[in-house]
Amino acid sequence: MTNNNKTDDSSYIYRIDKSDNLSYLSDNWSEFALANDAIAMSVPHLILGKSLWSFIADHDTRYIYTLVLTEVRKTLEPAVISINCDSPELQRVFQITMTAMDDGAVEFSSTVVEIRQREYIKILDASVIRSEDIVKICSFCKKIAVSDGKWVETAEAIRVLNFFGNITIPQLSHGVCPDCFASITAEMDYPKLM
Ligand SMILES: [Zn+2]
Repeated sequence: MTNNNKTDDSSYIYRIDKSDNLSYLSDNWSEFALANDAIAMSVPHLILGKSLWSFIADHDTRYIYTLVLTEVRKTLEPAVISINCDSPELQRVFQITMTAMDDGAVEFSSTVVEIRQREYIKILDASVIRSEDIVKICSFCKKIAVSDGKWVETAEAIRVLNFFGNITIPQLSHGVCPDCFASITAEMDYPKLM
């Protein structure tokens, strides 16, 4: 065994091949997946070889990743994006660096850049019972769409959605808020990110 799989403790690495199939996961992958409530993704041999796109359900998030991956493969310059991977009691910001490798492969390296304890946020608790209602949550900043064009922080969203009293927590579907869309695509105008 070589040390190829060794990573810094706070850095999680996965790679896709030229066809966007998962080709490599760092040793600490399971820990990363579990920390992000992605239990189904925590068993490496069950997800290696699968398409990246089978893990990204919504159209807007797929579109953003398509844009970024196309750019990274074309310019061979790394792209850096921030993602909030919040759990009900922790606010965590990951920085993901996508780097083109040989043969169209791309490496994703995720590093925790900020972690903060906060008050329990029920809407992010996967174990709570949900109503039939569906609200959109941004895949990147985790703001929630509460009305036409208005996206607010999760804590604020609870207050707004709770306006009429004891509503049940709605289901979440992923999307991309206008601010994140603008900031991620704006970075494409600056090919030299590193
Ligand atoms: Zn956002």
